Amino acid sequence: MKSRELYEQMAAYIDTKAEWMKNNRQDLHKHAESAWHEVRTCTLIVDYLKKLGVTDIKMGKECFIADERMGLPPQEELDAVYERALEQGAIPEYAPYFKDGFTGVEATIDTGKPGPVIGYRVDIDALGVIECQDPAVHRPAREGFASINEGEMHACGHDCHATIGMATADAFMHFKDQLCGKLKIVFQPGEEGVRGARGMVNTGWFDDIDYMMAIHMRPETKDHPEQRIHIENKNCMANCKMDVYVTGKACHAASPQNGNNAMLATAAIIQGVYGIPRASVGDARINVGQVIAGTGRNVVCDRSKIVMEIRGLTQESLEYLRPYTERIIEHAAAMHGCTAEIKIMGATPCVPTDTPEFSKYLADLANEVGLGCNEPGAFVSTSDDYAYMAQKVMEHGGVSCYMNLCSPFSAPGHAVTYDIEEKDLPNGVKMYAAAAISLMDDWKEKNQ
Ligand SMILES: [Zn+2]
Ligand SMILES: [Zn+2]
Repeated sequence: MKSRELYEQMAAYIDTKAEWMKNNRQDLHKHAESAWHEVRTCTLIVDYLKKLGVTDIKMGKECFIADERMGLPPQEELDAVYERALEQGAIPEYAPYFKDGFTGVEATIDTGKPGPVIGYRVDIDALGVIECQDPAVHRPAREGFASINEGEMHACGHDCHATIGMATADAFMHFKDQLCGKLKIVFQPGEEGVRGARGMVNTGWFDDIDYMMAIHMRPETKDHPEQRIHIENKNCMANCKMDVYVTGKACHAASPQNGNNAMLATAAIIQGVYGIPRASVGDARINVGQVIAGTGRNVVCDRSKIVMEIRGLTQESLEYLRPYTERIIEHAAAMHGCTAEIKIMGATPCVPTDTPEFSKYLADLANEVGLGCNEPGAFVSTSDDYAYMAQKVMEHGGVSCYMNLCSPFSAPGHAVTYDIEEKDLPNGVKMYAAAAISLMDDWKEKNQ
C-alpha cells in the first residue's frame, strides 16, 4: 500500500471512535428491530450521517422498487412497530420516510475527484429470537442492553454491522480531502430470511460500483487468534422461502363427510415434500419449520399455514426442487379437496459473492496492515442475500468480496445468548478504510 501513512492516520482516528461504537452497538442491540421494522435504526443512521455532513442520502422509498421487496409483515404489524419506534426514540423528522416497510438507507460520499467507486453493504436487522434476560449467563442482560422488544434480538451481529457502516462514513468524511473517487454505503434491512436485498438492487444505485464489499461477524479462529479478518470465497446456497396457506372446509367432527380436511392436506404436503427424490444436479435441503392449523377439537380443520424453505447448492438443484415442491403442495391439497396458495417470502440466487482475485487482494492487504487474514479457500455456505448485490455489481464488470470480522462469540449465531466483544468493531472499519485507500492508490497509478 502506497499511502500507508494515510491508512495509519485513519486507523488512529478509527480507534478514537471505539467507545462510540460500543455505545452505539449496545443501543441498537437494546432496541432490536427485525426485518422491515427497522424504523428507529434507520432514523438514527440518517441523523448521524447528516451530522457528519453527508449530503447524498437516499431514504426509504428512494432505495427500493416497492413490489420487488419480499416477506413484508402485515400492515397492522408495520403500523404497530412504527409507533413503537417513535416511542423508543426514532427521530420524528425522518421516521415517515421509513414507514410501511421501506427501511433502508443509501449514502454516497463523493470526494469530487476522479477515482474508483467503492460500495459497502451493512445489514441492520435483528431476527426473531427471544433474547435471554438472565444476568447470570448473558452479558447484555447484566449490563442492561438486552433487547426490550420481545421476540426481536440482534443474535447475528447486525447491530455491529450497522455501527461499522456509520463509523466508516465518519472516517471517510473526516479524511475526505485526502481520498478520491466515491464511497457508497448501503444500510440493508431484512437480511434474515433473505428478504431485504432484492428490492434494492434494481434502482440503478449499484450500477456504477466497481468494488463491492460486505462484512459479517464470525467467531475468531481458535488456532489463529491473530487473524481478525476471514475471507472464504463464499458461494451462497440458492434459497427459496415459502409460506403455504391451505384452505379446506370446516364442519362438525361427527360428520366429517361434510368438510374438506386441511389438517390431512397439510400432513400429506409435509410427507410429500420430504419425500422428493434426490437429484444429480446438486445437493439440496428442505425444511418445514412451522405449522399453524385448525380451530378446535371437534371441528374439521379448514385452514393451515405451513412455513417452509428449500435450498440448493446449485441453481439447478433449486430449479429442480422448486416446481416439484409446488406440484406436491397443489396436488396433496387437492387429494383432500383443499386448495393451497404459495407465497414466496424470500429468495437468493446461487451465485458466488466473491471474485477470487479480489479476495486474495483483500486478504493480502489485511495481512499487510496488521489486521491478519487467512488464505481464502473455496467454501459453500449458508445464504445471504448480499448475493443479489454481488451479482448486480459483477453484471456490470465490477468485483465483490464478502469478508468476515472475527470476535470471540459467547454462543453461536442466532442463539439466545449470542454476544460478541465490541473491542473488535474498529477492525471492521479499518478493513474498509484499508481497502478503499489501497484501491484508490491503484486507480491513481493506472490513470496518471
Ligand atoms: Zn443470521
Ligand atoms: Zn447475519
